[in-house]
Amino acid sequence: MGRGGRGTVLVIGGGLAGVSCALKLSDAGHQVQLIERSGQLGGLCRSVPDPLMGRVDTGQHVYLGCCSSLEALLGRLNVRPALRQRRLGLQVVDRATAVSRGLGAAPLPAPLHLLPVLGMWPGLGVSALPAASRVAGALRSWSVEELDSVPALGWLQSLGQSPKMIARLWDPFLVAACNVSLEKCSAATAAQVIAEGLLRSSQGAALRVPGTDLTSWLSGPAERALRMAGVAVRLRFRAAALRFDDEGKVVASEAGGGSVAADRLVLATSARHAHRLLEGAGVNDPALKRAADLPDSPIVNVHLFTDRPFLPAPVVVVPDSPLQWLFDRSALSSEGGGDPGLFHSAISLSAAEAWVAVAEDALVERMWSLCRTTFPAAARTHLRSSRVTREAHATFAPVPGSAASRPGPVSSVQGVFLAGSWTKTGWPATMEGAVRSGNAAAAALG
Ligand SMILES: Cc1cc2nc3c(=O)[nH]c(=O)nc-3n(C[C@H](O)[C@H](O)[C@H](O)COP(=O)(O)OP(=O)(O)OC[C@H]3O[C@@H](n4cnc5c(N)ncnc54)[C@H](O)[C@@H]3O)c2cc1C
Repeated sequence: MGRGGRGTVLVIGGGLAGVSCALKLSDAGHQVQLIERSGQLGGLCRSVPDPLMGRVDTGQHVYLGCCSSLEALLGRLNVRPALRQRRLGLQVVDRATAVSRGLGAAPLPAPLHLLPVLGMWPGLGVSALPAASRVAGALRSWSVEELDSVPALGWLQSLGQSPKMIARLWDPFLVAACNVSLEKCSAATAAQVIAEGLLRSSQGAALRVPGTDLTSWLSGPAERALRMAGVAVRLRFRAAALRFDDEGKVVASEAGGGSVAADRLVLATSARHAHRLLEGAGVNDPALKRAADLPDSPIVNVHLFTDRPFLPAPVVVVPDSPLQWLFDRSALSSEGGGDPGLFHSAISLSAAEAWVAVAEDALVERMWSLCRTTFPAAARTHLRSSRVTREAHATFAPVPGSAASRPGPVSSVQGVFLAGSWTKTGWPATMEGAVRSGNAAAAALG
């Protein structure tokens, strides 16, 4: 039995879901052990060593003001973003004219806060306001059940959104948040992102961006917070098999022979790993299998190292262009030092099926040539070096029907709980979704 007689809990997986779950369980008086197969915490929020920068993120991470559970966890870890807007502010560059506009939400009650953003959005004109208000009107009352079977593209078209409006306005926000094209995205997921992220309040869409690489940002602070809370953390422990013993304990063992036992278990791995572990223990959980069978969607980042900065702002969006979102990592950095003649920009390519298998040289050449035609300053800039990071299984694709394929925190096995951004959180696979899922698993465990 753990502290307060509440029993022992094993959490497998040290991503944001596992970390938040372990902290909540420990707060509730459980004796918690967390095992993680890699040498760091943070899961998919991770960086890899880089000869020029020390480390680069495998994928740029951004979150919004509406991510309240994530913000609460980061507060507990004593971690802050470098960019912390009070209201949405965006530099939007028109790829045809190379004109760059700084747009900002107004301090007005929702949804009026979006008027200046919509009114000035490049290439849309005055028809953007009535069109967007039709979407806002439809979202006054909607349900996941009603919209989950419909593709987001068809739903937006049914609300009178023109091809221009879809390509220039909805696509940049929704593809970045859902990591899937609008043809393949569930309208329920798109609706949730628009309702929660854009429409609810002027602070909801405010951008938050870390100022260090993700491993430095999260891994050490998470480990410190867990240890302070009394959670036993074991890194480089890969649960290769699970079994349920005669005393009702669940036992996770490594390939090398080490094992840990507990009264209850939280599987905070990917759905596929969770399914494989339970299946190996002779358990067939159909709901978990459906989640494990959801398709994946890749994210690719192109890191450009130049002799001077060339982006017009720290965060830039180029609608209706393969460039999508760009980040001036040097301007966003909260770390000093390094080579004063080396500037780092990252191009974040979501739903990157078209790019994930393209050879590094060809991909960099294509993206750099687009930068040179889109940003006037890039024509005077020398590209010193580059790097491509690819996460082939970055997130599940929230395809139509996916809401029904995401299980809640309670598995079909007594004493086994599920956490991860793929569980039924209502959110696409995001940091906020991961933290919510961890908190939900801890609450279900009691
Ligand atoms: C490139 C990229 C960019 C992204 N951009 C954003 C963004 O801008 N904003 C945003 O909000 N979200 C973003 N996301 C999504 C976000 O990172 C994830 O949704 C979130 O981090 C998932 O957390 P998780 O804890 O659910 O899962 P994971 O992070 O996958 O954690 C699972 C953990 O379990 C461990 N594990 C697996 N099997 C075992 C085992 N057998 N034994 C022990 N440990 C095991 C893994 O090593 C891992 O650490 C991005 C993701 C990627 C990949």
